[in-house]
Amino acid sequence: MTRPAFRMLPEVTADSAAFWTGGADGELRIHRCHACSRWFHPPAPACFRCRSRDVAPEAVSGRATLASYTLNHHPWFGEAFPVPYVVGLVELAEEPDTRLTTQIVDCDPADVRIGMDVEVDFEHHDDVWVPVFRPTSTGGQAS
Ligand SMILES: [Zn+2]
Repeated sequence: MTRPAFRMLPEVTADSAAFWTGGADGELRIHRCHACSRWFHPPAPACFRCRSRDVAPEAVSGRATLASYTLNHHPWFGEAFPVPYVVGLVELAEEPDTRLTTQIVDCDPADVRIGMDVEVDFEHHDDVWVPVFRPTSTGGQAS
């Protein structure tokens, strides 16, 4: 699967800056609540579980499990974003109910399986490091 040369980039906000730029240091930074110790995403100024505002981004391992995915065949952006590509919902190793919508890369779409182990990688575009996920080198728990 060819990686796209083009990405629709997010508007980086004060809350999301750590998430979108952590890749400059090779870190996936996810918001964590210091009151209940839980991670959450997307980043926000308060914890959605306990309402505490004592929250801040912290680096996670970058390891995750593919919870669900869809295979897109429609060329929304022409040749700039080659199809097919896999849009995945991954669960962080640190907090399985904290999920990220991402692209699964470096993997034949035919080999993608729910439950497979994936790890983060970053694509640098302008001032944003887009977190994408690829199968771990040790393989996954494909079922
Ligand atoms: Zn909390």
